[in-house]
Amino acid sequence: MSSSVALRLPSIDGLLRHPACAPLAERYGRDSLLTGLRQLLDELRPGVLSGQLSAVEIGAEVLAGRVGERLAQQQRSQVRRVFNLTGTVLHTNLGRALLPDEAIDAVQMAARYPLNLEFDLANGKRGDRDDLIEGLIRELTGAEAVTVVNNNAAAVLLTLNSLGARKEGIISRGELIEIGGAFRIPDIMARAGVRLHEVGTTNRTHARDYEAAISPRSGLIMRVHASNYSIEGFTARVPTAELAELAHRHGLPLLEDLGSGSLLDLTRWGLPAEPTVRQALLDGADIVTFSGDKLLGGPQAGLIVGRKELIAKIKKNPLKRALRVDKLTLAALEAVLGLYRDPDRLAERLPSLRLLTRPQAEIFAQASRLQPALAEVLGSLWQVSAVEALGMIGSGSQPVARLPSAALCMRPQVSKRLRGRFLLSLEAALRALPIPVLGRIDDDALWLDLRQLDDEPAWLAQLPRLQVDS
Ligand SMILES: *Cc1c(COP(=O)(O)O)cnc(C)c1O
Repeated sequence: MSSSVALRLPSIDGLLRHPACAPLAERYGRDSLLTGLRQLLDELRPGVLSGQLSAVEIGAEVLAGRVGERLAQQQRSQVRRVFNLTGTVLHTNLGRALLPDEAIDAVQMAARYPLNLEFDLANGKRGDRDDLIEGLIRELTGAEAVTVVNNNAAAVLLTLNSLGARKEGIISRGELIEIGGAFRIPDIMARAGVRLHEVGTTNRTHARDYEAAISPRSGLIMRVHASNYSIEGFTARVPTAELAELAHRHGLPLLEDLGSGSLLDLTRWGLPAEPTVRQALLDGADIVTFSGDKLLGGPQAGLIVGRKELIAKIKKNPLKRALRVDKLTLAALEAVLGLYRDPDRLAERLPSLRLLTRPQAEIFAQASRLQPALAEVLGSLWQVSAVEALGMIGSGSQPVARLPSAALCMRPQVSKRLRGRFLLSLEAALRALPIPVLGRIDDDALWLDLRQLDDEPAWLAQLPRLQVDS
């Protein structure tokens, strides 16, 4: 370079005083702005020294703009709303159940004000947080007693440890399941200090298998609802009532991990039958555990219900303190459970049930309505159609059952060789929208299942910002 005047970066002080930076200091604070400017100048310095940058590129306005973008990016929260158009309603990776307004109001109240979390307002003494929801859960399940922890995995761990530590837990080989992630029944048993005694075979377990396993070392019999897979064909499973009778004859408790644990018979809304908590207790299970955020439609929680003296033992376990729920969860849970008192209106008021029961015709009409706008944005390289589709409940409930739904289906009109790349670019572009849109790729197409598209205006409003680079 023969230029006589070497290019120099503006000074930090000069930039801070520049009118383009003043609004940034106002918005993000002077310290953040200073840090951002220093970082940017450090990054640009080599380019200036080597003469690769022009005077315009290091002008105060340009630098202020770049720092502004970074600060905005930093300030954006990491926890973000998305559109779950995957077709899986209770999606574990996308937060499972959506809360009803009643629960959201209760969470706000609990977040904003002091509350009687562990304080008995009737007698002015210290209370127990479980008391806040015990009555309601007893009423809805018929259980004698109740305790609530952070999630169902915690409920299973705590129950096993409280009732079976240093003893054997008898369980069918067909129920030694993995629930995704790191939750495997044999591992949880081991961590709970219960020695696994597996009986029967993968497809068939009989009452005599359980009976033969019982010894003075036995601590409990466990049954796990095989929520995320199904065995068909030559199978045998001992009914809960029979297993309970057998357990009680030998003085052992029967635990039933129901997983999604529905409180009401879902067939009344045309959904597949799921065992209810009340029925499991009526059949003789001594303790039933289930999640709060699966079919129940509430916040993440693990509910442990059953016989009074066993619940008392569980509550005395020091692990209970480590696994307990917080006030926001309890507030939301009480509000959600309250809606179950009026089953006739539940499908209108509980979002998960409302979404699960949306009629296919309504979803199809929505897909047809949105098809032209999406087709226009995507242009001629994509064929966009409103089609029938099959979704699922998710969270391990009814793995085989499909929910008749409808979707926007996008097929790239390019050679087979290019299709995969096109689909991945479109998927990434949808994820990059201000409210990321999540669908699924299947059969050389990208599908947006609209069962869960509640906020149509927000979805449409951001559509023009979709930029697919193919
Ligand atoms: C989902 C599930 C669990 C784990 O429940 P989380 O609430 O996710 O901790 C345990 N057991 C069964 C049978 C389940 O379906």
